[in-house]
Amino acid sequence: MRRPTINFAEWVFSVDLEGTREIQGQAGTPAYECNCDACKAWRSNFSANLSEELALSFERIGIDLSQPTECYGSQNENSSFELRVLFHFIGKIRSGPDATIFDKRINDYIMNYVAIRKEPWLSIMVLPCRNSFEARPKRLDGSELDIVCIDMRLLLQCGA
Ligand SMILES: [Zn+2]
Repeated sequence: MRRPTINFAEWVFSVDLEGTREIQGQAGTPAYECNCDACKAWRSNFSANLSEELALSFERIGIDLSQPTECYGSQNENSSFELRVLFHFIGKIRSGPDATIFDKRINDYIMNYVAIRKEPWLSIMVLPCRNSFEARPKRLDGSELDIVCIDMRLLLQCGA
């Protein structure tokens, strides 16, 4: 199977494009056809909130931005949302920042969200879904082999 190598922000992935497309918008995942305020805000506003480059990077690895696996967060007074949005693809992480880093102050590992943009803030963590407790889709054969999670946190600005 062809698995092209694709740059994504600070990472390099090899991606099963066909497999990835098959697991987008999967019934049973938390955000599937969800009409909560966070999901509605994401779907209406994600394109205005992501740089062209980042949106294209998601597209290149076969992720459908309009159909995250999970999306939740809280609304601010000015109608922006602080969101956590999870996506999944099938492939391998070839290189890039680790999902955890050692924090000497607490003598333990902490999640390593990489700042992609400062204003409005947007950060990303990438990890194999087997190392994550979060919801994930399944492959068509029911397995979770090589499913990778892209875990994004951002300030989503609404209604321009
Ligand atoms: Zn929702």
